[in-house]
Amino acid sequence: MKSNRRDFLKKSALSTAALSIPTVLAAETARRMPAKPVVVSTWNHGMPANKEAWDYIINDRTALDAIEAGVKISEADPRVSSVGYGGFPDRDGKVSLDACIMTGEGDCGSVSFLQHIKHPISVARKVMEETEHIMLSGEGALQFALKQGFQMENLLTEEAKKRWEIWKAKGNPRSIINGDNHDTIGMLAIDRQNRIAGACTTSGLAWKMHGRVGDSPIIGAGLYVDDEVGGAVATGVGEAVIKVVGSFLVVELMRQGFSPEEACAEAIERIAKKQNIDGMQVGFLAINKSNQHGAFALRKGFQYALTIDNETYLKDSKYLIEE
Ligand code: ASP
Repeated sequence: MKSNRRDFLKKSALSTAALSIPTVLAAETARRMPAKPVVVSTWNHGMPANKEAWDYIINDRTALDAIEAGVKISEADPRVSSVGYGGFPDRDGKVSLDACIMTGEGDCGSVSFLQHIKHPISVARKVMEETEHIMLSGEGALQFALKQGFQMENLLTEEAKKRWEIWKAKGNPRSIINGDNHDTIGMLAIDRQNRIAGACTTSGLAWKMHGRVGDSPIIGAGLYVDDEVGGAVATGVGEAVIKVVGSFLVVELMRQGFSPEEACAEAIERIAKKQNIDGMQVGFLAINKSNQHGAFALRKGFQYALTIDNETYLKDSKYLIEE
C-alpha cells in the first residue's frame, strides 16, 4: 500500500522522536563532561604545531584561536612540503592552497585553490567570520584575502622548485601519495571551557593538475566538528576521502557509539571496499567529547601528535595494510 505524505511525516516524526532520546541524552552528557583540554594533529610536523596550540589553550584562549595558531606553524615552515610556504607545486609549478576551519557550534569557513597567501587558514577564518558564505575559491579568495589585509608572497621555495623540476624531468604524469608528498595538517582541540574546534590546511597533492581541489577545504570531507560528539580530520588522497565524505562519516559513527579509533577504522574500510587503493594512503584522526582519541590509516606510516596534560607525544596510527 502506498503511504501518503501525511502518513510519512507522522511516521518519520515518531521515529525521529524515538531515535532522538539517546541522541539528546548523549548531547547533554557531552556538554556536561568536565573539560579536559586536548590537542591532536596529523603527522610529525604536528608536534610543534600542537605545542603552539597548547600554549593558547593553557592561557585560556579558545579552541578556535588555538587551532588557527597551531596550524600556522606548519603553514609557515618551508620544510613542510605539503602545507603553505614550501608546499610542493602543481604540475605547472604553481603552489595552490586549500584550508578550512570549523567550530563545535557548526560555524565554518574555507578557501580552495588559493595562491600567493601564506596563511590560508586565517583567510578561511575570515570567510567564516566576515562573510555570509562558507567557501571562497581561486581568484575570488585571493581578492578577498587582499581586501582583508593579507599580503601576496612567493610560496614556491627553491627546494620545492628543484623537486618539481626533478619530477618533470621524469615525465611522470600522475600524482600519487607516497612517503614524500603527503603532509596535510589537520588539527582538533578541546579547550578549558569544553569548546571544540578544528582546522585543516594543505598545498594538496604534489604535482596535481592545475585547479585541482582535494578534500582538505571541504567541510565534511577533510574536517568535521560537532560539539555534541567530537571531531575528525583526514589526510592522504583527497579524492578517496571526498567519495566517502570521510570526516563527517567518522563523526556520525562516533555519534552512534563507535570510539574514535573504531570510527576511523570503519571509514578506512569503506574506502578499501569500493575504491582502487593501489599505492594510496589515507588516514583519519578523531577525538570525542569523552576525551578519547584515535586514528586509523589505510597503510602503515601514518602518525599523529597528541598533546594532553602538558605533554606532547608522537603516536603511530593503526592501519589496514602492512606496506
Ligand atoms: N588530503 C590532501 C589532498 O588530497 C593531501 C594530503 O593529505 O597530503 O589534497
